[in-house]
Amino acid sequence: MKEVICDLCGSSSYKHRHTIKVDDSGLRYYRYTRNLPEQQRSEMTGKFNIVQCQNCQLNYVNPRYSTEQLEVVYSSDKIIGGNWQSYKYLFDLGQPDEMQGQLKTGAYNARMYDWKFALIEEHNSTKSRKLLDIGCGDGKFVYEAIQRGFDANGIDLSPDRIEQGRKTYGLGNALRNMNIDDFSADEKFDIITMWDLIEHLESPSSLLAKLEKISHKDTIIVILTMSLDSITYKHFGKFWNYMNPTQHLYYFSHSTLEKMFNKNGLELVAIEMDDSRDKHFIHYLHSIVLGQLNNFIFWLIRNAGLPSLLKRIGREDLAERLPKRLENLYPGKYIGRYHDNFVYIAKFRS
Ligand SMILES: [Zn+2]
Repeated sequence: MKEVICDLCGSSSYKHRHTIKVDDSGLRYYRYTRNLPEQQRSEMTGKFNIVQCQNCQLNYVNPRYSTEQLEVVYSSDKIIGGNWQSYKYLFDLGQPDEMQGQLKTGAYNARMYDWKFALIEEHNSTKSRKLLDIGCGDGKFVYEAIQRGFDANGIDLSPDRIEQGRKTYGLGNALRNMNIDDFSADEKFDIITMWDLIEHLESPSSLLAKLEKISHKDTIIVILTMSLDSITYKHFGKFWNYMNPTQHLYYFSHSTLEKMFNKNGLELVAIEMDDSRDKHFIHYLHSIVLGQLNNFIFWLIRNAGLPSLLKRIGREDLAERLPKRLENLYPGKYIGRYHDNFVYIAKFRS
């Protein structure tokens, strides 16, 4: 773990906002904790603090994982992905016990892509459509962009994800395992996207600064991140679904992200609500109820001797597998998406 200074203003004075317990005593980090390499487990678990800079109000995790520890988190599919998002699999013996990251494919969400591209079309004032997706992962978004006529490319720091995307979508050199610094100064893009990326970076500010090299005067920068201005954060506070100090190092609000844009020569052009804008309040309630049900099942297995009860009624098969199944269950109180994320669109000041 390492102590860090504010990435926006450089100040080292902060006030405490939230304490998050990362260990196997609760449902949310149960599986994560068990999947950490044993020799790193004690250093990488325990209490994490989310703090707020006294000078500029940026919220961030401090102290946080070192670069080497973040590599441990991201190099293992077992740790970061592949959760069952529903309790119903607990008792369905047709499902495999172990769920790995590459199986985390979720249902194809056409509506989400339609929304993303409509947003890009609305704000792109250039005739050309050269697009770069930073942190593209397996390139699903790049693939969708190409289908819609964009000249799209993606970069990612994980060679495995790039390789996987090239295979899955036949994307070839549209996906590159490289860093922003590796672009030559004459390669410019009309649209630069970062979906769910900025909150994971060690220094979001230095990435924003580097975008200037690959932008022209009309380039739009499209950033999706969860926001402290969402009603779900205001309701749940430290229990908000996105409060995850093992991966989310920064918690932006409209105002702190705008300050970070300004610091790096960017101007905020628009803020858009995420694609959950059409969801009704009933989705929100449904999420809360489902999350509570997860917690209840977790409690039942751990404290009410459910495995021995199952043995007694002749279901040894289930009794043994139930604790394993539990590892695939995620997360706690609130599991749905409802007005959590915003899209921030910015341009370099000419
Ligand atoms: Zn600050």
